[in-house]
Amino acid sequence: KDQLKGHKAVVVGAGRSGLSAAALLESLGAGVRLLEKRTDFDVSQLDSRGLFNVEPVLGEHRPEHFQGADLVVVSPGISLAMVRGLCPAGQTVISELELASWFISEPVIAVTGTNGKTTTCMLIQKVLEKAGRRVFTGGNIGTPLSDHVLSGKRADILVLEVSSFQLQGCSGFTPHVGVLLNFSANHLDHHESEDEYFRAKMQLFARQGPMDLAVLPLDLRARVESDFRIKSNITYFAPTGRFHCPGLPGAHNQANMEAAMLACGFVDVSRNIFDQALLEFVPPPHRQEVFLQDKGVRYINDSKATTLEAMTAALKAFDSPIRLLAGGRYKGGDFSLLAGTLQEKAAKVYLFGDSREIFEDAWKNSADMEHFADLEQAAARAVQEAGPGDNVLLSPGTSSFDLFNNYQERGEAFKVAVRKATGITLQ
Ligand code: ADP
Repeated sequence: KDQLKGHKAVVVGAGRSGLSAAALLESLGAGVRLLEKRTDFDVSQLDSRGLFNVEPVLGEHRPEHFQGADLVVVSPGISLAMVRGLCPAGQTVISELELASWFISEPVIAVTGTNGKTTTCMLIQKVLEKAGRRVFTGGNIGTPLSDHVLSGKRADILVLEVSSFQLQGCSGFTPHVGVLLNFSANHLDHHESEDEYFRAKMQLFARQGPMDLAVLPLDLRARVESDFRIKSNITYFAPTGRFHCPGLPGAHNQANMEAAMLACGFVDVSRNIFDQALLEFVPPPHRQEVFLQDKGVRYINDSKATTLEAMTAALKAFDSPIRLLAGGRYKGGDFSLLAGTLQEKAAKVYLFGDSREIFEDAWKNSADMEHFADLEQAAARAVQEAGPGDNVLLSPGTSSFDLFNNYQERGEAFKVAVRKATGITLQ
């Protein structure tokens, strides 16, 4: 821990994990410069976190900001390649996950994948707690790992949701159990190619040894075996439908549960404990969350469905007739693949926000579609038109940043609009 004392560190990005990395570095005695592009960043946040010695630099990142640094820590979502391009040759550039991992002693279960990470991490946490373990859950969800290190508390095991951004900035991080839930070409705006994105995910297993476990989906087996040499125990999974969990419907969740069971089994949790935990598991909100049943209509908030695959999973998990609310900022994906499913299951599609043309083109002959200026109006119309037996489903398939700050706000706005339109006021 003393090795960073007196060293100079640059942290790029003053979001939650950047601030947390800065705090960790400062507590280790390093001098910290914090770069943030947003010029309206409120620097008083530093004082309120007790970061009196952190030097904030707002505005565009420039090469001189990195001069003389011993270490550069990059926040998730910021391109490592861009940062490396600004740094002197040979500069050590790492992610917040890598930094924090230098200071942990607990075994780690790390989960990555395109969809289902948060759900699966929370399920693993629930199971391990049921088995009497002290668990820290964090990483990409909720609390950054640096906060756990800073807290000085020890857990029995860490459950970490990790993104490909963070994995690309790792050179030492090695989970005891690594789980890759699934993979589809998403986020290609940040990663240069599909292959690079896949390689980033596979970094999870790169340094594992024979005492570790790699959990991978069966449909990736051929690709993994032809391109990667994994030295840990590998187990492939596919959904078999053998689990019963009232909170987690659909085949995609069966896959998540298979992966969770393998991870928990490897750290000595029995199937019996696992099954008990499933019965009690309350899934996180905004993921296929049935939040209201009114006059025979079921209302489902799946605002976290920001990808084609997540939207597909939702359309498969619920019965017809579905009234689908979709729209937002397009992140990629060939939505025409859903035309057949919509033809079969959708009573109507209510479009809102950006990507109207993308959805209209993809589904033009397959579904009745109407466009609305915002989510509230789309929700009001869907409530008005729904009848007994219908499922009104917000599963946008895109990010929320056209109309909202994040998916949580989008989900809450949907719930409020539905309650207003049904005449059921908030408790
Ligand atoms: P992540 O943390 O990877 O974004 P979440 O658990 O928050 O994943 O779920 C995001 C969305 O993906 C939700 O709409 C959820 O219903 C859907 N989803 C969950 N698991 C899967 C899966 N295995 N395949 C496809 N979609 C999934």
